[in-house]
Amino acid sequence: MSAERVSPRRMTERLVAFDTTSAKSNLALIDFVEAYLQSHGVPARRTTDATSRKANLFATLGPEAAGGVVLSGHTDVVPVEGQPWTSDPFSPVVRDGRLYGRGTADMKSFLAVALALVPEALAAGLKVPLHLALSYDEEVGCLGVGGLIADVKANLPQPRIVIIGEPTGMKLVNANKGIAGFETEITGKEAHSSQPQRAANAIVAAAELIGFLARLAEEKRDAGPKDSRFEPPYTTLNVGTVTGGTALNIVPRHARFAWEFRLVPGDDGEEIVARFRDFAEQQVLPGLRKAAPDARIVTQARAQVPPLTPEADSPGEALIRRLTGTNRAETVCFATEGGLFQEAGFSTVICGPGSIDQAHQPDEFIELGQIKACEAFLRKLIAWASQS
Ligand SMILES: [Zn+2]
Repeated sequence: MSAERVSPRRMTERLVAFDTTSAKSNLALIDFVEAYLQSHGVPARRTTDATSRKANLFATLGPEAAGGVVLSGHTDVVPVEGQPWTSDPFSPVVRDGRLYGRGTADMKSFLAVALALVPEALAAGLKVPLHLALSYDEEVGCLGVGGLIADVKANLPQPRIVIIGEPTGMKLVNANKGIAGFETEITGKEAHSSQPQRAANAIVAAAELIGFLARLAEEKRDAGPKDSRFEPPYTTLNVGTVTGGTALNIVPRHARFAWEFRLVPGDDGEEIVARFRDFAEQQVLPGLRKAAPDARIVTQARAQVPPLTPEADSPGEALIRRLTGTNRAETVCFATEGGLFQEAGFSTVICGPGSIDQAHQPDEFIELGQIKACEAFLRKLIAWASQS
């Protein structure tokens, strides 16, 4: 590819056109971005998953020095299946000042604007390095970015600040809830459906456990710890998927469901898990074991995403305040990779174009004005990084 100049909007359209649903490979997008950076003389580092079907990409603009600012975003998007889209989610289209397509808001626009401004950043004579970090598998529990962070920690001059470009309407965000995800598998005993007394119905057991979680969610809403910076201000629980059974006339041996909670600060995640396990062992398992001594209920932890917590005297916040003139920091409920960067020792904030209200929805869009606002913000960052 010859050194290409692409407008932020056009670059957004290009990135959106890659179907990077988390279940699929993101390599076509990564190849494209790597070739684009290479055309501008910018080398990039890949870290991959175990199968090499997915990759993170990390690149540095400006000096190979410590103290830089990372512009970070995930490349994957959530599925579109079953959603009523007006137009092809991977053929971005502008209607009424909005760019429609999967990933326009969450969160390819931020990455696209950063990429489109690469030639300007290079021409500006950066004194502080700006890094680009593109991750995979964020939407399935922030599973990919850990490899990128480990690579940076082990092998590169240490950045100081990380800006996660998740959609905040370009507002400064310094806190988000974390996620604890689990999968619970119930093994009962099958029998002909006319003989339930000889069987242990795994789906009924799952329903009892799910009912327990639903009641726990109500308890958290009505009587749990509150933190008014979050909307909603309490710990939430969700059961996201359920599978089980084989046929109507077979008492099911197997059932499985995935669930998560998102904690407000001050609530106790271990207590939730302990109460769930107690209920499973004392209230549900004995019933299963009457007819099936081998019956089991096994709960395994899945994605665990730490929260992003406000930092005292945060260099990241100070930088965003200086660039935007804002003097307030907000809080969001959606989980981000921010907590992982923060745990690794980088001052981390969230600030990106678009609204989370459109994320994960059919007809996801970003206002073109948000792409412009992001462009203006990153231009200020480039100016700051070339003067300081
Ligand atoms: Zn996102």
